[in-house]
Amino acid sequence: MAVLQATIGLEIHVQLTTRSKLFSTAANHPDAPNRNAAYVDQGLPGTLPVLNQEAVRLAVRLGLALGARVCRRSEFARKNYFYPDLPKGYQISQYDHPVLQGGALCIRDVQGQALQVTLERTHLEEDAGKSVHHQAYSAIDLNRAGTPLLEIVTEPCLHHAADAAACMRKLHALVRYLEVSTANMEQGELRCDANISVAAPGATRLGARTEIKNLNSFRFVERAIEYEFHRHTEILEAGGTVTRETRLYDSGQQQTRPMRSKETEADYRYFPDPDLPPLILSAEYIAAIQSTMPELPDARCSRYLEQYGLTPGEAETLVADRPLAEYFEAAAAVGDARTCAHWITGALTALLKRHTATLDECRIAPGKLGALVALIRRGVISGKVARQVLETMWDSGADAETIIAREGLTQLSDVQELETLVAQVLQECPEQVEQYRQGRTQVLAFLMGRIMQRSRGQANPARTSALLKQQLSA
Ligand code: ADP
Ligand code: MG
Repeated sequence: MAVLQATIGLEIHVQLTTRSKLFSTAANHPDAPNRNAAYVDQGLPGTLPVLNQEAVRLAVRLGLALGARVCRRSEFARKNYFYPDLPKGYQISQYDHPVLQGGALCIRDVQGQALQVTLERTHLEEDAGKSVHHQAYSAIDLNRAGTPLLEIVTEPCLHHAADAAACMRKLHALVRYLEVSTANMEQGELRCDANISVAAPGATRLGARTEIKNLNSFRFVERAIEYEFHRHTEILEAGGTVTRETRLYDSGQQQTRPMRSKETEADYRYFPDPDLPPLILSAEYIAAIQSTMPELPDARCSRYLEQYGLTPGEAETLVADRPLAEYFEAAAAVGDARTCAHWITGALTALLKRHTATLDECRIAPGKLGALVALIRRGVISGKVARQVLETMWDSGADAETIIAREGLTQLSDVQELETLVAQVLQECPEQVEQYRQGRTQVLAFLMGRIMQRSRGQANPARTSALLKQQLSA
């Protein structure tokens, strides 16, 4: 049999960071069981849903960022099914008239090429509650009931598990950047169902698909799809047929298991929710949201390459985290941008990690980091000394210049002083000098180390190295 190919489509759920629920005034927040469940969320008869405007605004915001069509008219529909944690007996969702249509997410695929992941639709819906299973009984917690979600449905256009994970990473960064969701994956604030089928590449019909539910980490997305691809492939190569079903991923066993046979749309008996009027968005409303859109991550990344000459890797790291990007720009206004990027993604990030601090808690203001970078560039201090200075800046809150003056850390750049230093060290190490003259240039590193030690790390490395070679070949 010819080599087989996977086809993957994702249904991604993003929990919106609104203060209240999608259709009630209860706080959109987990708490003691059932603390944040209004009558509407409990599904009590006679209660009526009222749409949360903030959720609509966030949906439009994400839609504009994804290049989706924001529908001027959309509708809420009831999706009927029975579940203990769904007291109404239906979920309010959107069906044939979603709020967003189309759009795409641009990722870098396994080969490092740009790939447009095209989107079918994105709709607003409420989450269900939770069943909590205890030893002898199960309990229902409705705090999650009515939580606003956006469901993003991709076309079946992916072919590698790693690309599906890349798609989730990209979306994760985007929704956080836009402040649409905090997207904490362990909390399930961003999760996806992965649909996968297997067929010969270029086959006119895709294979039968299975759906893996609720994947809530990038790694699980990749592993579950990988597992499922191999499972389908084995069945097909043995001449069998894949059963269309919904499966669960067991991250401990690293395998998928059947959960239920797939419902078809007809099972849900969708119909427009009579309690909610159609959602009508005016052109002015959409334009007003458009006018508040920040510069998008991809655009910002390109600008970093052009304006600052950063490497793609550094630009991506900075842009993936909006506060970090803002910190960088503030620092780059003071010190050389490329050196700032290098120090922020390197030493500063390491320092934050060591102190388990977020950027908000960073004790070094961006302007101060920029000033430190300027001192390095001017040759006042070496990179090595700058690392110590950075630590002291964190501990004391003082700026670099003050610390350097106080501790006498200025880099030794004076040619005469450096010449003397080099000559002293060469005198102390006649053996190494002899070896060098016999062609063992590796001893240079040893001699440089000695000089650095002698100067307490303050010798200007570039000048010292030049003088050292000069004296050795004299
Ligand atoms: P459903 O009716 O089950 O919701 P949809 O047609 O809406 O199915 O598709 C749901 C998801 O499944 C989408 O992300 C879509 O890209 C994906 N999908 C559909 N057909 C296939 C297939 N043959 N292989 C892989 N993914 C598929
Ligand atoms: Mg569907």
